[in-house]
Amino acid sequence: MSASSSSARIPSVDVAIVGGGAIGAAVAWGLRVLAGFEGSVAVIERDASYAGASVALNAGGIRAQFSTAVNIALSAYGVEVLRAFPDLFGASFGGGAARPDPGFREHGYLFLAATPAQEAAMRATHAAQRAAGAEVVLLTPAEVAARYPHLRLEEIRLASLGLRGEGWFDNMGLHGAMLRAARAAGARVIRDEAVGFEMTADRGPGGRVAAVRLASGARLGCGVAVNAAGPRAGTVAGWAGLALPIEPRKRTLFTFDCAAPPAGPLPLMIDPSGVFCRPEGTGFLAGAPPVEDPAVAPEDFEPRHAEFEDIVWPTLAARAECFEAIRPGRFWAGHYEWNRFDRNGVVGAHPEVPNLIHAAGFSGHGLQHAPGVGRGVGELIAHGAYRSLDLSPLGYERLLENRPLVEEEVI
Ligand SMILES: Cc1cc2nc3c(=O)[nH]c(=O)nc-3n(C[C@H](O)[C@H](O)[C@H](O)COP(=O)(O)OP(=O)(O)OC[C@H]3O[C@@H](n4cnc5c(N)ncnc54)[C@H](O)[C@@H]3O)c2cc1C
Repeated sequence: MSASSSSARIPSVDVAIVGGGAIGAAVAWGLRVLAGFEGSVAVIERDASYAGASVALNAGGIRAQFSTAVNIALSAYGVEVLRAFPDLFGASFGGGAARPDPGFREHGYLFLAATPAQEAAMRATHAAQRAAGAEVVLLTPAEVAARYPHLRLEEIRLASLGLRGEGWFDNMGLHGAMLRAARAAGARVIRDEAVGFEMTADRGPGGRVAAVRLASGARLGCGVAVNAAGPRAGTVAGWAGLALPIEPRKRTLFTFDCAAPPAGPLPLMIDPSGVFCRPEGTGFLAGAPPVEDPAVAPEDFEPRHAEFEDIVWPTLAARAECFEAIRPGRFWAGHYEWNRFDRNGVVGAHPEVPNLIHAAGFSGHGLQHAPGVGRGVGELIAHGAYRSLDLSPLGYERLLENRPLVEEEVI
């Protein structure tokens, strides 16, 4: 008996989305709400608390300052969604007087360049960002000092600041709103873990996904499957015989209070070392690029405590006197869904498994791009093609043809 004939007798949906984090929720929303898809949609989510999902563990940032045009455009759509949030999502919150607020703090990102190479790279990405419509300016050290007098800028050569369309927001607020709107429009959420695919071999050596096998023992037939498993997306692709180079890479975030905080509003500052820091409530949130960055087990959430004392705090204290006297607060680790190939998302199907759409590997910028990816994947499934933003630069083909689309601005 073939998998496809057995799948005819099991519960079945038109679209089964594996993973209900930032991207899975966005795809369900993009399909049912934005694209008006009338077929059945189920989101399979293993972690009802989202405690280990990157959507819950990130820094909530959105920025125009990327090096890749498609990423700048995805951010611009993310900003559009944040600005229109009460209108887009008010109805699924009951439509009452309390308008949902994504808590968007549009205070910009401030990148600092200290070496000639960093300055040259900043000028090059600035040109690309302006060409893509981003509202960013280059600042001399004197101009930075006039805006942010608490910063020590001795070795700084140039800075880049986003004037609009950058800042941070309520990550779970956006996620919850998209998922809620998708459910209100008919999408189902199945609390279970996907553990494998049943494949047919009716097309090509890879075949098609006929059904998703679940940890509970159930099976869910599907017309289309979406791989939105975040850091676990490589494993999910493997069930269809595909080698998708996406793996979990650990990032630790630290909060702290500052005895004498500088006057705001302050941007998210990225030091030339890669250490970043932004306001968080009455304190600050900060992190550092890891010294070593191996793939980790998907269950490994042990924070790298030493990064704070060895890297984050000394760097920030050197950058601003006010960061010398601080009180460390909460800290946690999460996983970037790291695409080893080019640090960019993979959106679309492998030609040999045409009904498995991947939407994963955003390498640390997938929250802000989730609305645009959800809209795009929704269009792809509902209409067979992108209708708004063309996401084909992120397609699977580039991996097969060895054409990396490297994103230089990964924080
Ligand atoms: C420390 C940190 C800081 C970050 N800062 C930012 C930022 O400032 N801005 C930004 O845009 N992005 C940021 N990110 C990245 C962002 O969080 C991710 O890009 C985004 O969450 C990716 O969404 P996703 O849906 O692909 O993955 P996730 O949000 O991890 O969701 C994947 C979901 O799939 C589920 N799942 C996996 N496998 C299965 C399975 N087999 N069966 C059922 N369910 C499954 C998981 O439980 C999870 O809920 C940060 C990430 C980290 C770790």
